[in-house]
Amino acid sequence: MDVVGHLRNPDYTGERRCMPCTVVNVAVVALVTAGLAAVGRPFVAGGAALAGLALVALRGYVVPYTPQFAPRIVAALPVPDAWFHRDGAVSPDGGQPGGDGSLADANELSGEAVLRRLGEAGVIREDGDRIVLDEEFERLWHGGMDQLRTGSELVAAVESFPGIEAAEAVETDDGRWIDVQGQSRLVPRPVAVAEAAAVWAMPDGVRDEVALAAARPLRQFLEECPVCETPLEASSTASCCGGHRNPRQTPQETLVCPECQQRVVTLPRPQS
Ligand SMILES: [Zn+2]
Repeated sequence: MDVVGHLRNPDYTGERRCMPCTVVNVAVVALVTAGLAAVGRPFVAGGAALAGLALVALRGYVVPYTPQFAPRIVAALPVPDAWFHRDGAVSPDGGQPGGDGSLADANELSGEAVLRRLGEAGVIREDGDRIVLDEEFERLWHGGMDQLRTGSELVAAVESFPGIEAAEAVETDDGRWIDVQGQSRLVPRPVAVAEAAAVWAMPDGVRDEVALAAARPLRQFLEECPVCETPLEASSTASCCGGHRNPRQTPQETLVCPECQQRVVTLPRPQS
């Protein structure tokens, strides 16, 4: 399936799929198919339809420069705008606008307080102008991710954390998730694996104090997907047509897994 992996374009699919681009391209594929069928080439037409739809599914669009013109075509159509936007659906970041789909409750300790505590405990340290992970912690963390990626303990691990009563593994068209029940949020499976393994790897005292809240910023140190080990790619929360879900917030830089089609890390906004 590597061919599929290479064809897939995370900029225009998964959470960043643009509905106007997709709709316009499916219409173009339908027109081309109908044209070929009309001139007596039914088999060619069938092949063109299959190839065209597969490319739209994998790459977001098949007609070159679609993102430049599709939104304008759609805007001119006499149908409600909402038809083309998925607002209200559970978004791949876990359903909270601006949230990053962490297992941790958004109201837990601030990122700064957590990083200070991690520094005191020796989990992270300064190295010149960079912050790096302690080697021993990193070894334990990656060992935990290996175990959770291949084993069946992820749900039980998540359920053992404070503030989480029950969890369930679910699979949707958008990917694989851990449903944290009672909080109605879906956490991407790669995020759940990374955070649960980070909590496991923490020194005892820190684990009790900051546990999940500390696991969230540690995801910034990931370079590969915790689930499939594919190198993460830079992306952003902006949608492909320049439209953005929440007009009051500027898009954030993210790291996504092109294979799982899920966001794994949302980088903090630069301090202004
Ligand atoms: Zn992955």
